[in-house]
Amino acid sequence: MERKELANSHRAHVLVLPHNAQGHINPSIQFAKRLASKGLKVTVATTIDIKPNQTEINSIRVEPICNLDEHVADLYDTKAYFGCVQTVFSRALTECIERHENSGDPFCCLIYDSILPWCLDIAKRFGLYGAPFFTQPCGIGTIFYYVQKGELSVPLEDSSVSLPGLPKFELSDLPSFVSDSVSYPGSLELLSNQFSNLEKVDWVLINTFETLEPELVSWMKGLWPVKTIGPSVPSMYVDKLIKDDKNYGLSFWAPDGATCLKWLDTKPTRSVVYASMGSIAELGLEHMEEMAWRLRRSNNYFLWVVREAEKKKLPSNFIEETIEKGLIMNWCPLLEVLAHEAVGCFVTHCGWNSTVEALSIGVPMVTMPQWADQPTNAKYVEDVWGVGVRAKADEKGIVRREEIELCIREVMERERGKEIRKNAGKWRELAIEALDVGGSSNNNIEDFVATLMKM
Ligand code: UDP
Repeated sequence: MERKELANSHRAHVLVLPHNAQGHINPSIQFAKRLASKGLKVTVATTIDIKPNQTEINSIRVEPICNLDEHVADLYDTKAYFGCVQTVFSRALTECIERHENSGDPFCCLIYDSILPWCLDIAKRFGLYGAPFFTQPCGIGTIFYYVQKGELSVPLEDSSVSLPGLPKFELSDLPSFVSDSVSYPGSLELLSNQFSNLEKVDWVLINTFETLEPELVSWMKGLWPVKTIGPSVPSMYVDKLIKDDKNYGLSFWAPDGATCLKWLDTKPTRSVVYASMGSIAELGLEHMEEMAWRLRRSNNYFLWVVREAEKKKLPSNFIEETIEKGLIMNWCPLLEVLAHEAVGCFVTHCGWNSTVEALSIGVPMVTMPQWADQPTNAKYVEDVWGVGVRAKADEKGIVRREEIELCIREVMERERGKEIRKNAGKWRELAIEALDVGGSSNNNIEDFVATLMKM
């Protein structure tokens, strides 16, 4: 393959393009910081609606390349949405690469979100290396790979699924795009397409670590040039190799860290239940009521992230009536909160970032998966890694108050909770080990950087 010649005076310059969602931006930006800390020059291309605090974050450059909102018609029609993303990003990405070439500051490699596989053609057109970045773990990827290969046919015919290398899944453990493919045809296609051109890429970068999914990682390495680089979380919570790296640095919402942390400081060790459903999931009215009822009557303090748009679903006067016991926030610095000693358990929707952040910090989880990859992450949390319990939903998809209470008690008070905490500590150590000097993810990142530096 032809490569762009770089003058010796240039540091190898890499362009990172995340998909425009918080759960994709966070791990990408974190990976970008790691590359920069090892000597690469890194630019992260964003859309203009996400505002960085500054145009440089830990020495990576942030460059808004387009205004997606201006063009995107229907956020809820996945096919139409991603068709639009492709049109807008293709043009903006091409212009960005050309702009940098013309100003004598060219890129040598494009790292793009794996759900945007058409980026590879753009990278190759400019003679750049191309590497998809998977923001989800191997366990999730494998399911969509089987779908793409036609080895798992959907709609599913059976009520459980056994696939090589994966635990046995009941329907409720599978990504909703697979278990309920009729409702999400566009998303199933999007996720399966991640695997449509991997034979042509230069690397496959995955936000996981070898000891977390050893068999799958080694199987995938036999198929593609895989490099596990995770957990892609701010360094100060794990290996501490990147100085002052405490937050991702790019957020759609401004976290009110001071209020959360000040409040947590007043609470005893492991007395607080922290609940967050991530950046996208929305609980229905009845579900919010069940959750609110339970938290109000629980023995524990609670810190609950309810995004502004969701607040109208809270029972009336809930905030005022629970002021002694609870704090409701729009958005928190999630890692700082998880790392606070007052937090005893994390009630989570099990988005992969929230999950891997809790694993990295060693916080036991009560999982309440809603959709997408969350049910499968929850299955791994409970049955494979043993770091939490899953709160079971009823036939309407609602987790009832008794179930929430039972699970929180299990984690905070019971014998099983001790076991979970012990496991959580073990995974935390392994996560740190992977990122630390000599660890698998650290070595993979160094190899990747060394290859680009040699150009
Ligand atoms: N997050 C945060 N503050 C909050 C809630 C979430 O900073 O109050 C971050 C969280 O740390 C994670 C991301 O938002 O990095 C959410 O990604 P995830 O994959 O967990 O879920 P998604 O939002 O994609 O469903």
